[in-house]
Amino acid sequence: MLPKVSLGLWHNFGSVDVYENAKSILFHAFDRGVTHFDLANNYGPVPGSAEITFGRVLKEGLGAHRDEMVISTKAGYIMWDGPYGVWGSRKHLIASLDQSLKRMGVEYVDIFYHHRPDPETPIEESMAALDQIVRSGKALYVGISNYKPAEARRAFEILREQKTPFIIHQARYNMFDRWVEDGLLDVTNEFGVGVIAFSPLAQGLLTNRYLNGIPEGSRMSKGGFLKPEALTDEKLARIIKLNEIATRRGQTLAEMALQWILRDQRVTSVLVGASSTAQLDTNLTVVEALEKNPLSAADLSEIESVLNGK
Ligand code: NDP
Repeated sequence: MLPKVSLGLWHNFGSVDVYENAKSILFHAFDRGVTHFDLANNYGPVPGSAEITFGRVLKEGLGAHRDEMVISTKAGYIMWDGPYGVWGSRKHLIASLDQSLKRMGVEYVDIFYHHRPDPETPIEESMAALDQIVRSGKALYVGISNYKPAEARRAFEILREQKTPFIIHQARYNMFDRWVEDGLLDVTNEFGVGVIAFSPLAQGLLTNRYLNGIPEGSRMSKGGFLKPEALTDEKLARIIKLNEIATRRGQTLAEMALQWILRDQRVTSVLVGASSTAQLDTNLTVVEALEKNPLSAADLSEIESVLNGK
């Protein structure tokens, strides 16, 4: 149901960003077959503004294709100060989704996620809230994100018991962060749940972006979630080696990094970010590469050696 490459609006679509650029990326994505757009209540900055941008783009034309799109949003991280602004109570999840629908100007989302497990609210309450949301018509399907294997199993058991249409787990997965291989992919597979891999390019590290320093305007230069400390000499050395493998295979590092994730049939889609249409185009080449330039066993083992620091 999802395209191999989906687009996330965590960065580059906030009120601090250039609206025309955001709009052109979204239209371009849809024209190129990206039918899935992923948001969350707090994406911006400022929190909520990515949903406002997306709603404006829908209103300015893209919304004519609403039935050809899978739109998702989430709640669970801090959204407003004061009571009920965070985590996984029924109160928070329902209030937050109502706000998201208003910001985007849509009547329903296709997928609503609980963004992260809540250590205090009983999981039964969060899952019952997801069920209520679907029954009320505000979401077609539900998903969870950032749940560890045992938590995901419990959530899936409850959702299955409730007969809630749950279809997806959204988890960080890239060459530098492979925690999902340690049990999560087995659990999702057992329950027939898809996995969408977020930050598949490690926020840009697994591209040519930082091969020659930290460019102005790049995510790392902006002092947000991707810190310069993440680019250690050791990591850069690995990125350079991976880039050499990609070049030898006749592809970009970004394309190879995405292809590496999609080598596993249990992963449904890679959820990329992009600050330009050109970046998105580079990332979309993976769709063809999957068929025409598959990773051989030798490629995979060479990549493995680099990732293991050999
Ligand atoms: P990526 O790993 O794809 O990083 C995207 C960034 O990498 C871009 O903004 C750009 O940065 C750079 N980049 C992308 N393509 C290229 C390219 N071809 N060449 C050079 N640089 C490139 O994903 P994100 O970290 O942005 O996450 C993607 C989505 O995943 C989010 O939008 C969100 O929807 C979801 N997500 C979910 C989370 C959750 O908890 N569920 C948490 C985090 C993300 P630059 O600005 O430097 O150009």
